[in-house]
Amino acid sequence: MSLASGSSGNCYYLGTESYGILIDAGISIRTIKKKLKEINVSLESIKAVLVTHDHADHIKGVGHLGEKMNIPIYATALVHEGINRSYCMTEKLHTSAHFLVKEELLQIGDFNITAFEIPHDGTDNVGYFIEVAGKRFAFLTDLGEITPKAAAYICKSQYLILEANYDDEMLKMGPYPHYLKERIKSGTGHMSNVDTADFLAEHATEELQYIWLCHLSKDNNHPELAYKTVELKLKERGFIVGRDLHLFTLKRTLSSDVYEF
Ligand SMILES: [Zn+2]
Ligand SMILES: [Zn+2]
Repeated sequence: MSLASGSSGNCYYLGTESYGILIDAGISIRTIKKKLKEINVSLESIKAVLVTHDHADHIKGVGHLGEKMNIPIYATALVHEGINRSYCMTEKLHTSAHFLVKEELLQIGDFNITAFEIPHDGTDNVGYFIEVAGKRFAFLTDLGEITPKAAAYICKSQYLILEANYDDEMLKMGPYPHYLKERIKSGTGHMSNVDTADFLAEHATEELQYIWLCHLSKDNNHPELAYKTVELKLKERGFIVGRDLHLFTLKRTLSSDVYEF
């Protein structure tokens, strides 16, 4: 389930029947608790938080989750440095900081986790490839482009969470200052709808069953626009949404459905 997705905060839950993990915790603990409770998941059953990078919309809640709730917070050494330097961290991580190394397998219960480099302008940025109960998930949020390495992980996945941040025209015509538009469009910024659609049309495999478009911009995108752009490009390549695979856009502040596999 996605609890929140976008520049106001990001948090995803991936769980088995008895326990689970969070990917990013960029919303308040109260909200996390409440949203998990709605699906009968307690915070006590969370075994780890995996952090993608050190931007505030991904880490706001990790101090409390780590130091008050004793939930291990996993990130690369550089991301941990960035987390503890961040203005949004009123509570620094000490005992709860756990280090992971990119491309090295990390096992947490039944979850086999591999972090891999993705290009973005945080201190260090990773995507996650996670295998659990024979299902393969790839999480890629906040990235300027899809490198061959990232593509390789996507191509192994059946369930994909991938950014579609902005529509080119909306960004161009929108209110952001020039430097910010350039930052977003750069190779270390964010993925546009077309970037994501082109990549998926080129690389979708028959194994890929579910795609969730994440981190949609409030000012420079519309969920239907992102959805249609990807749907159309997939169709041009013979992949029919609804028949060959499922496609969803994730909401900024509302939880998604709970997807069970
Ligand atoms: Zn973000
Ligand atoms: Zn970011």
